[in-house]
Amino acid sequence: MSEGRKIILVTGGTGLVGRALQNITESNKDAKEKWIFVGTKDADLCDKKSTEKLFEKHKPTHVVHLAAMVGGLFHNMAHNLDFLRKNIHMNDNVLQSAHENDVIKVISCLSTCIFPDETTYPIDESMIHNGPPHPSNYGYSYAKRLIDVQNRGYYEQYGRIYTSIVPCNVFGPNDNFHPSTSHVIPALMRRLYDLVKEGNTGDKVLTVLGSGKPLRQFIYSLDLAKLIIWVLRDYNSVEPIILSVDEYQEVTISQVAGTIAKAFNFKGKLVYDTSAADGQYKKTASNAKLRRYLPDFQFTPFNKAIKDTVDWYIQNYDQARN
Ligand code: NDP
Repeated sequence: MSEGRKIILVTGGTGLVGRALQNITESNKDAKEKWIFVGTKDADLCDKKSTEKLFEKHKPTHVVHLAAMVGGLFHNMAHNLDFLRKNIHMNDNVLQSAHENDVIKVISCLSTCIFPDETTYPIDESMIHNGPPHPSNYGYSYAKRLIDVQNRGYYEQYGRIYTSIVPCNVFGPNDNFHPSTSHVIPALMRRLYDLVKEGNTGDKVLTVLGSGKPLRQFIYSLDLAKLIIWVLRDYNSVEPIILSVDEYQEVTISQVAGTIAKAFNFKGKLVYDTSAADGQYKKTASNAKLRRYLPDFQFTPFNKAIKDTVDWYIQNYDQARN
């Protein structure tokens, strides 16, 4: 590992996780680290030449590769091929440019939703390639799995420590609240915001898509950002590491909807549209490996993280990704 100053290039630096990382690094500065956050205005990472120019410009020693085509269940189901191709292109361009520019360490992002559909629970880091992913998001899943394959290749052929983190579902300030492309938490926040704006009365109905029964683990983006900084500074293995809340912190979609409704002080009622798809029933991940390194890490309580995100959204509605 280099003794000198680290120049850390964060791709996807304008997204949900990137902005959280920027927030935490700015409030906790380290003189030995220079952080650079980039988005699509700085480079199209689907294009190799554009990616090369970005690396030439910033000459990073480290890369946190967050950029990806990301979306909720329904967006994935309608665009599996786009998710596959765009993510394969971005990942290959970033990893190969990092290698060509002698970048010391790359941290790329997988996700707990790329694991095999048929598996035992809890899932852990050894199971990523053990069977086909859920058909709803096979494009995203296979593209993400290939990052791990590629990281192993860079290690075998060149001794590179290019690794990957595996977050569970993320939410927080600066999420994507667009009705057709968002994940479940920002989608519900957006719809509740619109309903409450029309008048927060008892006759209002929030329809939640699906049965409300699926179980999910959610990590607050600011907690994830702290863990990414730890991975950058202290985790030196090619092997992926799951960055998730504890198993007992898993919640149902109906608990999620209820918590968000409470944060908005919503006076109407919630109903479930059981004709809509549920996706995977559960995908419980074990954070045992993370806990071996960081037994005392405190995750922000779900209710508080939801309330803080709702407050952020109400205050920043005009600038948010709607
Ligand atoms: P966002 O959708 O919020 O942000 C995506 C980022 O990628 C933006 O900065 C965007 O730039 C950038 N980007 C997209 N396409 C390109 C491109 N062609 N060239 C350059 N940059 C591009 O994503 P998240 O912050 O939610 O996700 C970050 C990472 O975490 C991703 O790798 C994702 O797969 C992973 N992850 C996310 C989870 C979640 O629940 N959100 C769960 C598990 C993993 P711009 O702003 O300019 O459009």
